[in-house]
Amino acid sequence: MLIDRRSFVLGSAATVAGMSFWPRRAIGRPTPPQILHWSMTSKNTSAVVSLELGGNSLAIYSDGQVMVIDTKFPYLGAALREDAVSLAGSGIESVAMLNTHHHGDHTGGNHAFVGRGESHAHIKAISRIAGQFERYKAGVAAAVAQAHQTMPDNHVLAQLAAETAENADSLKPEDWVPKHAVGDGDALTVGTLDLSISHFGPGHTDNDVVVRVEQDNLIHTGDLVFSGLHPFFDPDGGGSASGWIKSLEGTLALCDEDTVVVPGHGPVGGREIIAAAKDYLEKLVTAVQYEIDQGTPKEKVVEMSWPFMDGLGFEQIRSRAIDFVYDELTGA
Ligand SMILES: [Zn+2]
Repeated sequence: MLIDRRSFVLGSAATVAGMSFWPRRAIGRPTPPQILHWSMTSKNTSAVVSLELGGNSLAIYSDGQVMVIDTKFPYLGAALREDAVSLAGSGIESVAMLNTHHHGDHTGGNHAFVGRGESHAHIKAISRIAGQFERYKAGVAAAVAQAHQTMPDNHVLAQLAAETAENADSLKPEDWVPKHAVGDGDALTVGTLDLSISHFGPGHTDNDVVVRVEQDNLIHTGDLVFSGLHPFFDPDGGGSASGWIKSLEGTLALCDEDTVVVPGHGPVGGREIIAAAKDYLEKLVTAVQYEIDQGTPKEKVVEMSWPFMDGLGFEQIRSRAIDFVYDELTGA
């Protein structure tokens, strides 16, 4: 089955997607064509960075093993898996998966990985993912439409999404639930690479983990960092603005001036994108506290904007961030 798909992919996908190289770490290893658009982020990693396709996915590959960090939406799971296998090259032995947190745009494609290799997430992510089956099922039902909507000319993705939708009846809640809990200070390996796991308490959610690829000096921050975007606040996710700032301080401490930083959403950068995310949150807390002290009613505050918000994407979630911080600061 996989062999058939591979030959189909290799035979037809060259014009669908290609490998591109992130200029900061351009390392010219030839790779076969991919279903999705991957950019090389370090010697042993590549990422799918696209605002339309959910959270940024990272493939880490070494010595016949590959791990995918975050799996986007249900219709993209099979494509991520196949791309990860082909990025890893010949002699692939295992395909592992890790979720940076429980949100559906980072875990929707888990069904393509769980039970077919090691799967990891924070213990609190595992229980939350187990409760999201209805959401995942809706994603599977919409797979074909979503593939067509986001990448209309990608025929390989369309076929994989159709297969996912055809298998809907056989998919069970446990097909999304990672089997292995990771926490702060844990270590994992991918081939000869060492991965360090950090968890700094409640931040974007109550189950954020940051993954550091030691040999490549690269980290995936999950949604602790929205790069060039307003951050998404989830009142039901167990997060906290003050905890988020502390988590970003911890994340900054994992970096030096050469660290490659893969954010949850938005373009890859260096540690400056972590500092910018922290600066946004600190200024937001200060600005909202000022309005609370002035007695400005909440419905007026959520309509406000400040210079640190100028020019950022995801404008539709700006007022949501203010709303969350207002409630946190007033204990609502
Ligand atoms: Zn998230």
